[in-house]
Amino acid sequence: MATNYSNYVGGEWVAAESGDTFDTHDPAHPDQVVGTYPKSSAADTDAAVAAAVDASEEWGDTPGPERGRVLSRASALLAERKDDITELLVREEGKTRAEAGGEVQRAIDIFDYYGATARDLGGTVKSASAPNTTLRTKNEPLGVAGLITPWNYPIAIPAWKIAPALAAGNAAVIKPATLAPGCVHEIATALEEAGLPDGVLNVVTGPGSEVGDRLASHPAVDAVSFTGSTTVGSAVYDAATEDGKRVQLEMGGKNPTVVSDSADVAEAADIVSAGAFGVTGQACTACSRAIVYEDVYDEFVDAVAARAEAIDPDEGLADSDMGPHVSMDELESTLEYVEVGQEEGATLETGGDALDRKGYFLQPAVFSDVESDYRIAQEEIFGPVLSVISVSDYEEALDVANDVDYGLSASIVTEDHSEANRFVDDIDAGVVKINEKTTGVELHVPFGGMKASSSETYREQGEAGLDFYTISKTVYDN
Ligand code: NAD
Repeated sequence: MATNYSNYVGGEWVAAESGDTFDTHDPAHPDQVVGTYPKSSAADTDAAVAAAVDASEEWGDTPGPERGRVLSRASALLAERKDDITELLVREEGKTRAEAGGEVQRAIDIFDYYGATARDLGGTVKSASAPNTTLRTKNEPLGVAGLITPWNYPIAIPAWKIAPALAAGNAAVIKPATLAPGCVHEIATALEEAGLPDGVLNVVTGPGSEVGDRLASHPAVDAVSFTGSTTVGSAVYDAATEDGKRVQLEMGGKNPTVVSDSADVAEAADIVSAGAFGVTGQACTACSRAIVYEDVYDEFVDAVAARAEAIDPDEGLADSDMGPHVSMDELESTLEYVEVGQEEGATLETGGDALDRKGYFLQPAVFSDVESDYRIAQEEIFGPVLSVISVSDYEEALDVANDVDYGLSASIVTEDHSEANRFVDDIDAGVVKINEKTTGVELHVPFGGMKASSSETYREQGEAGLDFYTISKTVYDN
């Protein structure tokens, strides 16, 4: 059942120079190995960067439509293999089959989207002053992009970095997270079969402290796009900016949903529980704070606790309601926060126990009587733990919502349209939703956060996603 994977460097599938390997395990069956991967070093990373440098000029000179065709073909190949890739994602990362299938489809759509976009880069603009002058904008690739990705969306996030980087004419080296690198090999295989020239995409697996760090600081890498925790992101930023590289950081969240007294409480409980407990709470945009007007507070707590209780975690391939945590470390970290919440004085309404079975399963937890300064209301937990905070009115709700270091996604459930519009204006978040869960953003709109959630300068996804990987030239042709 376990698969042996290699690095992909300069169009060759190769082992780490040292021959060392590491294994990934099924979080629902931790005794089962899913994949064996090269445990690469800085030297392996250097080889991958060198291959990317060699390939970058020719790929950058390749006409956009040709680059686009390769991405579109890769999208079609991923679609043909969707069921197998979905199963790999479930077994390696632990999502349910429905969640994993949705994520694989997202990756297919991203390659399709940027395949089309690559055909149409740059534009022509009429001069305002001179009739015989044509103004052109030309978007040039940067050269080599270093891509560092987390385990929690192991195909969608790599896809939304690889596709725009390549569409724009860059070569790339990607270092996927060690807990779930298999899907990135599926992307590389599809691109290879789609006709991507050797060296344009390179994959190196191994520890972040070696491979990731080397990639972030390598002098021949022009731009680094990182998604992961705020702690690691800050280290990547320091390493990458030392020689002036362009850096994009997408990091943690502590996302609120405000529940107004005008809201339909049952609908609000559905929205909050979907945002808090979907993908086992292991999403950067997961709702971890429900900020509820006191008039509807008790009713809301009962309703959301009932939804958490009704969830029956089980392995993803069994089409369950909720999969396991990705690893023992992640489960232990969530369990620790459940302890912390109780020590801080919050009331554990339901859940918070590890299930008495194999695998890293936890019954989702709901805390009431939470104060905004509690650690469970301030720190990213990255598991299915919801804090419900009582507030008296809009002003207090907004203060609490903004009273965290993060600013990624936020939502409000309300029947009052002007209150919703005020919230859109007032909240510190890169994604704001009205009567919707905090998770999920369509692929053709910009995605990114504020404050400690993001580097703020460049967005991912959609046309904005190309800006990070290009530099524009304005050409006057008289
Ligand atoms: P992580 O920060 O531990 O690791 C992310 C990547 O960085 C991995 O590939 C890791 O190997 C690598 N890495 C580790 N140390 C490194 C170093 N010193 N130098 C360079 N690279 C290094 O994050 P994770 O546990 O894989 O993912 C969960 C985190 O990701 C959460 O905080 C979550 O909020 C965040 N996340 C953010 C977004 C977003 O778009 N904002 C999306 C998904 C996940």
